Amino acid sequence: MNETQIFKLYACCHLVSGSTRSIIYDLQRKECEFIPNILAEIIEKFDGIKSISEIKQFYESEYDDTIDEYFSFLVNHEFIFFLAGSENYRFPKIDLSFRQPGVLSQVTIVVDTLFDERSQVILAEITELGCRDIQLIYLTATCFSKIASDLEHFSQSAFNSIEIISGYDPTLHRDEVIKLVQESHRISCWLIHSAPITERVREQHFGMQEIIYSEKVYDAYARPEFTNAAGFKLNIESFTESHHKNAFYNGRICIDKKGELKTALFNQELFGNITENPIRKLLEDPRIELLWNSKKDNTAICKECEFRYMCQDNRLPLKIDEAETWAHQVPCHYNPYTAEWANEEKCIDLVLKTSPPRTPPDTELPK
Ligand code: SF4
Repeated sequence: MNETQIFKLYACCHLVSGSTRSIIYDLQRKECEFIPNILAEIIEKFDGIKSISEIKQFYESEYDDTIDEYFSFLVNHEFIFFLAGSENYRFPKIDLSFRQPGVLSQVTIVVDTLFDERSQVILAEITELGCRDIQLIYLTATCFSKIASDLEHFSQSAFNSIEIISGYDPTLHRDEVIKLVQESHRISCWLIHSAPITERVREQHFGMQEIIYSEKVYDAYARPEFTNAAGFKLNIESFTESHHKNAFYNGRICIDKKGELKTALFNQELFGNITENPIRKLLEDPRIELLWNSKKDNTAICKECEFRYMCQDNRLPLKIDEAETWAHQVPCHYNPYTAEWANEEKCIDLVLKTSPPRTPPDTELPK
């Protein structure tokens, strides 16, 4: 460890402090580590300014062992490097502005007779609005030939990924489903629920494609609750988006089987029918943009949570004042004031690839 040169946090590593602890998000490796808030404060205060020996002097050599432990942790995890002071200007911070290529990012379509009749119009409209990811939901058991024929609508489209959720039908043979997924490079995931077996099949074909047979019954109208960190997203796109937008709702719409536009299938509020107005027109409803902009930094409790730039919270926030402050009526399973999940499962390992000992001690250092 270099004690005399100035330390610098890598530009891809970002500190996010919560009420009781902080996290270093490594956006390049898509990994992260918990650190005590005091270490986050030291990094923020001295990053690119002081060397380890200068920091020890700052604390009058009273906490040398703790500071050594902190910096060994940062070096071992390759969060920091050392440089001559005059080089600091060569390492600017990453630009966290967020630009969205299209108005829409993801559209969920409940496939029913309406989609059968108007698929070309719907797909043309959402393509024009920049949508690249589609989710097709079949509410009931649907045969292989129907799904295969619907997918033909997408053969010449510009969509990047198609996720399918369908009820089990005996014609959904494993081999046929795999063949179709292999042929259609756009299918990112196909969940076949209410199946007689539970099985996960992964196909590697220009990225990960997944087929899941599940015995569980899927209720499209029930909001999926997250009870641990498994659904969090740790990447530069989600990180920058969360600084400006609601990472779950932004750019996302749903068209139900009657053509009603919603923000999510499990939400009640309707924003007009796509058979009466173009989707672009329905998106002019100010409530939609307001929701898309409801970022975690303006949301009660979440703004004090260290997960706020990776969290994919799907609860519908409520605007509680004119300053665009938001709150939730339903509590989250994570409590940022105790750093505990309600179910006591601290399932952080699901997204945080770390091995113990991983968190440096939380020691009180004077500021
Ligand atoms: S929803 Fe829960 S986990 Fe997500 S930012 Fe808010 S408090 Fe944290």
